[in-house]
Amino acid sequence: MSSILKVAVPVPLNQTFDYKCEVEVAQGMRVKVPFGRKKVIGIVLAKKDKSDFAKLKTIEEVLDDTPILDQPMLDFLHWSANYYHHPIGEVIAAALPKNLRIGKPAIIKKVVGLPIETSEPNFEPTDEQQHAIAQISTSLNQYHGFLLHGVTGSGKTEVYLRIAQKVLNQGKQVLVLVPEIGLTPQMIARFESRLNTHIVSIHSQRNETQKLDAYLMAKDGSAGVVLGTRSAIFAPMPNLGLIIIDEEHDTSFKQQSSFRYSARDLCFVRAKQANIPVILGTATPSLEMLKQVMDKKITRLTLKKRASGAPLPKVNLIDMRTETGSALSALLIERMRQHLKNNKQVMLFINRRGYAPVYFCTQCDWKSECDHCDSSMIYHRHINRLRCHHCGDEKIPEQTCPDCGEQSLEVFGYGTQRLEETLGSHFANTPIIRIDRDTTRRKKAFEQHLEQINSGEPCIIVGTQMLAKGHDFSNLAMVGVLDIDGGLLSSNFRGTEYLAQLLIQVSGRAGRSGEQGEVAIQTRYPDHPIFNFVLSNRYTQFASTLLKQRTQAKMPPFSHQALICANAKVKQNAQDFLQEMAVLLKSIQIDTVEIWGPVSAVMEKKADYYYFNLYLQSDNRKSLHQMLATLNQHTKTLTLKNKVRWYLDVDPVE
Ligand code: ADP
Ligand code: ZN
Ligand code: ZN
Repeated sequence: MSSILKVAVPVPLNQTFDYKCEVEVAQGMRVKVPFGRKKVIGIVLAKKDKSDFAKLKTIEEVLDDTPILDQPMLDFLHWSANYYHHPIGEVIAAALPKNLRIGKPAIIKKVVGLPIETSEPNFEPTDEQQHAIAQISTSLNQYHGFLLHGVTGSGKTEVYLRIAQKVLNQGKQVLVLVPEIGLTPQMIARFESRLNTHIVSIHSQRNETQKLDAYLMAKDGSAGVVLGTRSAIFAPMPNLGLIIIDEEHDTSFKQQSSFRYSARDLCFVRAKQANIPVILGTATPSLEMLKQVMDKKITRLTLKKRASGAPLPKVNLIDMRTETGSALSALLIERMRQHLKNNKQVMLFINRRGYAPVYFCTQCDWKSECDHCDSSMIYHRHINRLRCHHCGDEKIPEQTCPDCGEQSLEVFGYGTQRLEETLGSHFANTPIIRIDRDTTRRKKAFEQHLEQINSGEPCIIVGTQMLAKGHDFSNLAMVGVLDIDGGLLSSNFRGTEYLAQLLIQVSGRAGRSGEQGEVAIQTRYPDHPIFNFVLSNRYTQFASTLLKQRTQAKMPPFSHQALICANAKVKQNAQDFLQEMAVLLKSIQIDTVEIWGPVSAVMEKKADYYYFNLYLQSDNRKSLHQMLATLNQHTKTLTLKNKVRWYLDVDPVE
């Protein structure tokens, strides 16, 4: 019995491929097919009566007895491929766990058991929580978007848990998306302590076998809760009843390579498809979601008070214009001492890992820069190396200045390592816990650090923005924010939005249970308008002023953007390619779409490649997408396409 199959294969081409098949096979199954000189794993999209091609190759092997992807999932993936103008074969590949992608059998190795012990909370929901729960409960069996806007520590997770329980009681499944790294173990623990169902997780700390098991338990419906980072948006869940997306504003929900999707945006599509509610929780809503609220597309529910009754922390600025050189102001050290003396914990937040960000000559202007990037080399003391954080290149620090020959080279500025060292000299008897990508590379290391913090002993925690997200440290009384001035001067139009979110999130770690916490922000720009709002925890007002600016400037979320980025070792090629692209785009003649560029990327040279961008913007999403679809059909005509690497980013966030 011979048939013709339409197969999606994981290649960067905007098409599918037809194959002959001599055996029984169904849509959504994996097949091994010859492709060029290689064999690849593809997915059967459809059976066809005839093909436009006369000579068809035959599939080599059918890998599944039952489909991996059912019709709703295939529809969702097609929608995503269309919206992001990305090849369906690559979209499917991104949606599958690696073991399925490489052809391993779809068999569960180890069933994830029920939680060891669950218990009911020993408190009643607050009035605000009760209101939110009641509102969401009226829409349990229909599509509805809810923005759960609750200040840090207001008990958003408690709302998720109670709604999730209701959905589980109906025999349905719950999908929970959380930001990358850090938060996941804590969130899993909280769900496991409450919900008596199989809870599986999909995130970077899981190995491939575990990820496959989780995927398959989601697919066969036995997992009541699937908790994961952005790719979990593609978990197959036949009885999906609720989607929760925690820390909605977090940019890690946007994939920044290859298939550039936003899991946050896709959760609306999935919720509509399944006709179920979606809850987006955050203390600092993105402007995109606030616009959705303004347009009455989603409903905002607010939690204004902390669940513990503790007041929000008191935020103070420390003017660094009067401090010289050191990373730590005398005032900050004094405040830290006070809290540590009361057996409390203190957290310092600095957004740079390594020892020092600058290695320079005190005699002339020379400073150590990466040979491959437009970036300075960061000094790492424990290995005595200068390292580029963009391309990973390393070198031994020079002893004498390459320019003037003097022995006058010094480090300048602070990274987490140097801060840790400096703190050691001020606080000799206090444990210092450093949390950054260098200290948490080892699996489980992050969890071990968290355990130590959760023991509650007085300590100083030094960390990068890994620490900014959702953690609940009950004995943390004070947060110090060290160098945010870069963010104030950011060239990204979203810079101040991100900075306000970050400041409020970090501040929110302080004083969550009991007494009022304290936050100290060191800055050389104490008059910057952002502080008017951050100091008084008025995020919503700040967001309104930003929204006004964005309307006037016709920037997102009041318009829609796409970015075409090209990069090449020969700078001119990247520029010329985008010039050619711009001409092609203009010839499509959709005048509601503005085209700017090419302009060089913020960091023009990275790992020996030169990066340039072309921006497309329109207040009409449809026109923009029409243009992109037309572009996709004509990219073959671009003469310079083989001289560059390029990609399209729909709704870019960086
Ligand atoms: P958020 O996610 O909004 O930052 P959490 O859900 O982490 O806040 O809640 C903060 C703390 O308050 C947690 O320790 C939680 O157990 C506790 N909590 C939540 N709701 C209540 C409540 N109604 N009464 C007392 N404590 C609560
Ligand atoms: Zn010099
Ligand atoms: Zn580099």
